[in-house]
Amino acid sequence: MKIPLSNPDITTLEREYVQSVLNSKDLSLGPMLPSFESAFAKYIGTKYAVAVNSGTSGLHLAMKVLDIKDGDAVITTPFSFVASANCILFERARPVFIDIDPVTYNMDAQRMEDYLSSLVTRHLPLPKAILPVHVFGLPCNMSAMMKIANNFNLHIIEDACEAIGAEYEGEKVGAFGEIGVFAFYPNKQITTGEGGMIVTNDEEIAKLCISLRNQGRSENGGWLAHERLGYNYRLSDINCALGLAQIERIEEILKKRAIVAKMYNEKLKDIDGIIVPSYRADVKISWFVYVVRLSDQHSRFERDKIINGLRASGIGCNNYFAPIHLQPFYKDLFGYKEGDFPVTEHVSDRTIALPFFNNLTEEQIDYVVKTLKRLLCSRCSILGG
Ligand SMILES: *Cc1c(COP(=O)(O)O)cnc(C)c1O
Repeated sequence: MKIPLSNPDITTLEREYVQSVLNSKDLSLGPMLPSFESAFAKYIGTKYAVAVNSGTSGLHLAMKVLDIKDGDAVITTPFSFVASANCILFERARPVFIDIDPVTYNMDAQRMEDYLSSLVTRHLPLPKAILPVHVFGLPCNMSAMMKIANNFNLHIIEDACEAIGAEYEGEKVGAFGEIGVFAFYPNKQITTGEGGMIVTNDEEIAKLCISLRNQGRSENGGWLAHERLGYNYRLSDINCALGLAQIERIEEILKKRAIVAKMYNEKLKDIDGIIVPSYRADVKISWFVYVVRLSDQHSRFERDKIINGLRASGIGCNNYFAPIHLQPFYKDLFGYKEGDFPVTEHVSDRTIALPFFNNLTEEQIDYVVKTLKRLLCSRCSILGG
């Protein structure tokens, strides 16, 4: 049996919408763009949504509009996809990593507060912003982070690229910070092929993002009038059509994913040596990936063996995430080394993302579980001598 790690869920609705754009000849900056944006804003509950050509572009524009630049620092997590820290480097600012909570895998708010207080005590300059990432679709502790941002006068940019539809205290993530960013690569909950979305309640921010994504053009100026240094971060109407169909199906999509996650949890929770993702009553998870963690006695070496074993059995899987601070160019730039963020490294050495998508069948899940069990057992018998 061959099972991919992820698999986009495209129906006739998506095909119809994309076909209609192809028939219309309005391939970019056509009517699908505002339709997708307004459906998205309505879903998240923000006044504005600005579509861009990737989540990374969205994060980059967030840095630009908040005027984060050379010499500034931004707090974020080392346990994430690399783009959430790279966007800070794009503007020559410096990421300050805060280690994660070992249960939620999100930035530890207490650690963040302690760090900021220590800066105040030592009369050192404060960072300009916090960039929390809702890792694997589990919301960060937003009430703590909002309080910290308030107390220390920091912007909040939420990286909600893995968390569309996740809720914290009944409110959708992405709507808490001044800016929230989503992504639509094919492995995300909804896809546009490539794409991203910036959400905000601030009209100035929305307008600036619209200009910056479109070569710095102004609202009423001509095609060749550029008010500021901008980019081509536009999302074509073909992509927007795909996105509109997907956002119309979002409830169905998230429901399917929750069912798959629950099935995995049921089948894996009693296996020795496996820690399943935590189900939490106080937040709504939007399942992005399904990541299990091997228990503490397993090493990274054993985890990698298991990943290889799963792949050899046709099962797509990966080591989500490798710590950002240990990526070679981060080590070179900032001198990071192993041991700098021990919780992140401990988790990162033991995690395995298993196949996870809307239409994963119980039969496929059973095959993954059976294979994982077999590989774990062969490990323990080797370990046992
Ligand atoms: C996917 C993702 C991004 C970037 O999205 P792209 O659309 O691939 O640029 C950023 N941050 C996180 C946490 C992500 O998972």
